[in-house]
Amino acid sequence: MKKDLAQLVKLSKFDVEISEFEPKIEKENDKLKIFLSTVSKLNEQIDQLYVEIDELKNKRIKNDIHLKELSDKLNEIDSKSNIVKTEKEIKALQLEEEIAKEQINFANDEIVRLDNLIEVKKEELQELKDQLAQEEEEVKELKAQVEQTIEEFNTSRANIAQERSKLFETIDSKVLVFYEKIRRWAKETAVVPVKNQACFGCHMKLQDRVYFEFIHSDEIKTCPNCGRIIYLEEISEEN
Ligand SMILES: [Zn+2]
Repeated sequence: MKKDLAQLVKLSKFDVEISEFEPKIEKENDKLKIFLSTVSKLNEQIDQLYVEIDELKNKRIKNDIHLKELSDKLNEIDSKSNIVKTEKEIKALQLEEEIAKEQINFANDEIVRLDNLIEVKKEELQELKDQLAQEEEEVKELKAQVEQTIEEFNTSRANIAQERSKLFETIDSKVLVFYEKIRRWAKETAVVPVKNQACFGCHMKLQDRVYFEFIHSDEIKTCPNCGRIIYLEEISEEN
């Protein structure tokens, strides 16, 4: 293979390798994001449970106050019962007492119900906290792993970039301009092999005449169909 072309093939391979790092790094970061979103969801659920438990406790306090009021009321009825004389007054007082006692029962039932609910929510809270602690531990491990992997990627990328830059300096500037022009639209497939007489950029078969000219030429050739720089892979492997 002609030297210019061989250099371009090599340069293009470096560019392909370099371009493959970014998606790999993104994939690593995505792994971490999934775990972090689980952690933040758990934190939200825990915050929500704290709010719910506070609300239940407030309701319980209101019921306690109400119970105190009702017990005062019963005392009041008790003292009144010593004063009232008519049957009508006695009946009215009895009714008032009945209602107050019913309300006391209701408030007591409500307190039991609220206490049970608070207990259930507290258990839920503890479960979530345990889950969160476990998840955070995993995130910590994963984060260390991801950071190490990314660091390794960055080191490899820097090494390849250095190799590329060394090669870049030895290539004829006209050849580089030509390559960069094609690379602008063809990205990582600017330089493609021809296998079985077909271009590996557009997968079209080269006409016999074009192919013959291509394999016997010293010039850098492009695919007549897609315009990518083509090289004969067989020869490149032999070299
Ligand atoms: Zn092509």
